[in-house]
Amino acid sequence: MLSRKSEDTAEKPNNRHMDALAEPPEAHQELFVGLSSLRDTLSSRHHSRDFAFAHAHYLRSRVLALGIIFTLLSPLWIVVDSLVLPAELLRYTLLGRVVLMLGLVAVLVLALFSVERIRRIRFCAGMLLALPAGFYVLVLLMLPDHAVPDLVGYGFIPFLLVASLSVFPFTLIESFFAGLAMLVLLGFSQTVDGSWMTGQGVEAFWLLASLLVVSMAANHFQLSLLLRLYRQATHDPLTGLFNRGALEVHLEKIQAWQREIEGAGQAGGAPCSVLMLDLDHFKRINDNHGHSVGDAVLCQFAKILAGQTRKHDCVARYGGEEFVVILLGSDQQRALEVAERIRYAVEVYEFTDREQRRILVTTSIGVTQLGRDEPAQEALKRADDALYRAKEGGRNRAFTASPDEVALTAI
Ligand code: GH3
Ligand code: MG
Ligand code: MG
Repeated sequence: MLSRKSEDTAEKPNNRHMDALAEPPEAHQELFVGLSSLRDTLSSRHHSRDFAFAHAHYLRSRVLALGIIFTLLSPLWIVVDSLVLPAELLRYTLLGRVVLMLGLVAVLVLALFSVERIRRIRFCAGMLLALPAGFYVLVLLMLPDHAVPDLVGYGFIPFLLVASLSVFPFTLIESFFAGLAMLVLLGFSQTVDGSWMTGQGVEAFWLLASLLVVSMAANHFQLSLLLRLYRQATHDPLTGLFNRGALEVHLEKIQAWQREIEGAGQAGGAPCSVLMLDLDHFKRINDNHGHSVGDAVLCQFAKILAGQTRKHDCVARYGGEEFVVILLGSDQQRALEVAERIRYAVEVYEFTDREQRRILVTTSIGVTQLGRDEPAQEALKRADDALYRAKEGGRNRAFTASPDEVALTAI
């Protein structure tokens, strides 16, 4: 669900930022951008719930692709096993491979039915790495020590799994711990085959550690690219608020959440209201003071909206000089009070032009409550109708959707 708290609320660009975009960045700026995104790629702690869904969706497609590759590759190796292992040992690896394949198929099926299930998809990704690793441990434990050096195509399993980490958009911490587990696995296999602390063993260790670093670098670039694309697709570049598309997705998620809560027995426990706001006579501001002052007013207006709402509310730029606020947990009456508070905050805010002269800015607001089962578009349309009535009623006022209700404010 969208929330303005998290870092995927890209920093609101100011004019300096916009100017910087016009020029090619210098090398040290590029490095700085890369380093500053480390916080985003280190762990998922700062990711919003909404980005977590987008991330899980991407992760799921990787799990499915790699799961199919592993499931197909695993039985193919039986041919090699049958060439190098005596019949009495072959049955151990065969048994292990059957268990591995069943496990991989189970992971694939689980991932297939885990759309929008963040935890389950993470679990599937973890199992995709844990199953082949577990299989390798099992084979090492079951085979007699003297037979282990005869194994062909098993020693590369930790290397394959560490390389596979780079395919997933894992966070650096996730990759680090998965890689650490593979280093332990390699150490264990070396104690079994006797190469622990030999020149060959140290070389293999070094190679695996280097591969892990490369995979983590790939994770970092992949995840930061994903975050950047996500921000561009869901945020308005001028104000940094959510855009119309993200808002509509958000509304659907709220309704799904409301239904879930209702299903859990809290009937009527989670009302939600929609405010549609439009700046009054905004065209005049552009005409009288220029487009850049108009832009600055829009940015400041967005900040007022963010300041007047709670972190789990959602503020979006619906288009042009129209904004939408979603108030979670507020019924229509409460929402009307919030709308009035916003209207007043805008009215008294000292917007200024280039010469620091005050510009009077006001906003009209339409208010409605979101129905649990109605299409979100209908609630938006109702809020828009109320906004229209607020304009008709003289502007700088908040109206609710139902025609028989009176405006709370009027000047
Ligand atoms: P009303 O009170 O009826 O809403 O009048 P209005 O002038 O605010 O509405 P109108 O629809 O006539 O004009 C909206 C203006 O908003 C026109 C458009 O140029 C301007 N606008 C839309 N997007 C932007 C933007 O990103 N930046 C700037 N500076 N102006 C914008
Ligand atoms: Mg307007
Ligand atoms: Mg308008």
